[in-house]
Amino acid sequence: MAGWATKLERRLAGEADLLVVRTLAEMAAVRRACDTLALERHGRFARVGFVPTMGALHDGHLSLLDVARAGALNDGRSSRVAPPSDVLVASIFVNPTQFAPTEDLSKYPRTWELDLERLRRTGTAVVFAPTAVEMYPPASPFRTFVTLTGIDEGSPEGAARPGFFRGVATVVTKLFNAVQPTDAYFGQKDGIQCVVLRTSSRDLGVPIRIHVGHTVRECDGLAMSSRNVYLSSAQRQAAPAIYKALSTAAASLAATAAPVPAELAQLGRRSGPAHVDPATAERMAQQAALSHSAQRGQGAAASEPLSPQLVQAAARIRADIASEREFGEVQYVTFSDGATGQPLARMEDSTARNGAVLLSVAAKIGSTRLLDNVVIRGVPNDLGWPATHPPYSWGEGE
Ligand code: AMP
Repeated sequence: MAGWATKLERRLAGEADLLVVRTLAEMAAVRRACDTLALERHGRFARVGFVPTMGALHDGHLSLLDVARAGALNDGRSSRVAPPSDVLVASIFVNPTQFAPTEDLSKYPRTWELDLERLRRTGTAVVFAPTAVEMYPPASPFRTFVTLTGIDEGSPEGAARPGFFRGVATVVTKLFNAVQPTDAYFGQKDGIQCVVLRTSSRDLGVPIRIHVGHTVRECDGLAMSSRNVYLSSAQRQAAPAIYKALSTAAASLAATAAPVPAELAQLGRRSGPAHVDPATAERMAQQAALSHSAQRGQGAAASEPLSPQLVQAAARIRADIASEREFGEVQYVTFSDGATGQPLARMEDSTARNGAVLLSVAAKIGSTRLLDNVVIRGVPNDLGWPATHPPYSWGEGE
């Protein structure tokens, strides 16, 4: 048996350490080894589960790896189930093309040894950790990007970080080509990113099933993020205000639409009502409506006002967050279509299968930018996509 297949077999048997793969050529060889082994063992090609990350791993990343290994979304609510992976692959690559020059590429947390330790415990078999030079060789300038029409102008996150989604869609497409997984797993924590990757993969006919895992949170509700290490202790104490505000708003919006998930309803109650004087509420409502229409881009839809219900919810979220002194600018509060990621003026306009609406916030606390979202309507970690797309995976003859 060839070298990589032997190493992989030993890793899968728990007799060897995880395989660290640095180059595209090695990754291709390891991928062939996955199929060689699966053919021998099961008489079919391998089911390869893949979780792309930028490292500095936390329990959010690990939950995706758990789901990828077992093949089920383990939130007890979703009916979506993927096949268990024969081989679990994670990537660690801090992708320079998704960082703007003003962003934190050089100081992005890097915790390689700890990451390996955590990956070992999840049963990951292979970690693909290419260098930037391997992914973007300077000798042959990189000229091919995956760009989604309208995403930079059409979504507030795209507008706030021009080029970010292009960088993400490009690197993930390239990682998909290198790893050739059957299933890939992303976190709802980055909800619009999930929609973008789903869309780019569908549009380009990428034969990989994409799954979304729920957002893993600290006990006080703060969404786990590699960037949380930037927070001072006072900022860390204030940071859960985002999720509390989102939960309060989601609970009251969902009360008029679909049943509220117990966990959200509870957190919403705990956070209590926000006390906003009428003048502040009015000013915030106007800001919310203005920034919303600015975010919608050109065309007839640009002038479509947010429904009063959403204006009120957005204003309340802004006020709740602003009431924490540590917070700076609330960059946006947006309601997006769970299927397209485009901002919505009314919840009923969602085109998602289950009417899912993604309520997202980006807010600055000190120099750190925090992002969070919840799904209103639909199942919380289900953005309203069909169970699988495309309805086949490599090697299964479906
Ligand atoms: P990153 O390393 O931040 O690029 O994230 C890698 C993957 O982990 C992405 O699919 C993220 O959406 C996901 N992720 C990040 N934070 C969380 C979290 N708190 N819960 C679940 N998934 C997460």
